[in-house]
Amino acid sequence: MAADNIGLSRRARGIEQSGIRRIFELMATMEDPINLSIGQAHYDPPERLVEAACKAMRAGHNRYTVTQGLPQLNDIVLDDVEARLGARPETCLLTSGVSGGLMLSFLSLLDPGDEILLPDPYFVMYKHLATICGATVKFYDTYPKRAGERFGLDLDQVQSLVTEKTKIVFVNSPSNPTGGMLSRDEVEGVTRIAERCGAWVVSDEIYDLFCYADEYVSPLQFTDRCIQLGGFSKSYGVPGWRMGYATGPSDVLDALKTLQQFSFVCAPAPFQHALVASMPDIDLAPYREEYRGKRDMLVEKLHPAFHLSKPEGAFYAFPQLPKGRDGVQVDSDVFVEAAIEKNVLIVPGKAFSSRDTHFRVSFAASDEQLAQGVEVLNELAERFTA
Ligand code: PMP
Repeated sequence: MAADNIGLSRRARGIEQSGIRRIFELMATMEDPINLSIGQAHYDPPERLVEAACKAMRAGHNRYTVTQGLPQLNDIVLDDVEARLGARPETCLLTSGVSGGLMLSFLSLLDPGDEILLPDPYFVMYKHLATICGATVKFYDTYPKRAGERFGLDLDQVQSLVTEKTKIVFVNSPSNPTGGMLSRDEVEGVTRIAERCGAWVVSDEIYDLFCYADEYVSPLQFTDRCIQLGGFSKSYGVPGWRMGYATGPSDVLDALKTLQQFSFVCAPAPFQHALVASMPDIDLAPYREEYRGKRDMLVEKLHPAFHLSKPEGAFYAFPQLPKGRDGVQVDSDVFVEAAIEKNVLIVPGKAFSSRDTHFRVSFAASDEQLAQGVEVLNELAERFTA
C-alpha cells in the first residue's frame, strides 16, 4: 500500500528508512557469517545471574513492580555509581533498557522546535527519537582531526552550535560506533557549555564497563543538571532482558517516572529481582579484560591502510575505508559487499553518520572469528590499495 494511503502519523512518516537496507538484505541471505556487525557482548550472562532469574520467577516475582523499580535495586545502582564516580545522583529509575531511558528522557525534555546537540557519528536511535519529539538535531563533529588520531570533540564547535533553543547536549562515552572516549577536559567543557545555556546534559553510559582508558569520566561529576543513562544489556550479557536505569535530580526523574507509568509501566520484575540477588557479588572486570585483549589484537593486526583510531572503550572499532593508489577512497557499498562476498559482516559508517568514510567493526566475537574477520579485511585492503 502506498504510504499516504495508510494514514500514518507525521511522526511515523518522519522516520527515514535506513540507508543501508541493501546491506541488511544481503546479510539475511548469509549462512554462517563471520559476524563483526553485532552490537552485543558475545558471552553468555554469568551463571549465578541466570540462576537468580529462574529462582525469582519460581518464587512468584512475575507481577508488576512499582514504577521506579525495586528500592533495593535503586540503591544498588546508586551505590555503584557513587563508588565508581564519586558522585551520588539524587534518584534512580529502572527502565526498559537504555532505549527506554532514552525515550523517556527525550519525551520529558524536548518540545517541538527545541534543539538537541548530538555527536556525529552517533547511535542511530538518538536521531530518530529526537525526530519523534519534533526537535531539531544539530550534530557536533567527533571525527579525528587527522587520520588515525582519537575521536573527540571540539568545545568551540559545540559552543558555536548552542542557541537559546538548545535543550539537550547529548554525550555518549564510550561511543557506539567509534569506541572513542571523551577526556576529562572534554566532559567538563561540554558540561559547562550546557550549564551556561541552561540545557540538560543527557549522558548515555551503557558501555561504561568497557573502558580501556586510564579513567572513566561522567558529566554527573561536574553538574547536577544531568540525566545519566546506564544499563545491564552489554555488561551482563543480557540485552534481551530489557534492563536499564536513569539517574538524576528528583524533579526531572519524576517526569520520566510519570511517563513510564503510562507507557512501559516498569522494568521486567524477575530480572530486577535477579540483579538484586546477585549484582553485588558479580565481578565484571574479567569481561572487560577479555575485551581489552580483543581490542589490542585488532589494533595490532588490522592493515595500516585502514588508519584505525585505537578504541578506548566499548567493543567497536571505526576504521577508515582504504584509499586506492589514485588517492580515491573505496566506495563503502563496494567495500562492505566485497566483505560480505568473503562471508564477513561489517557495517558501513554512513549508517551512523553524515559522512561515508569509515566502517564499524564489532570485536564482540570469539578470538577465532575475530582473527578470521581481520584476515579477510586485510586481504581487501591489499586488493583495494593495489
Ligand atoms: N545506547 C547505545 C550507545 C547502544 O549501543 C545501545 C544498544 N545497541 C543502546 C543505547 C540500547 O541499549 P538497551 O539494550 O539497554 O536498550
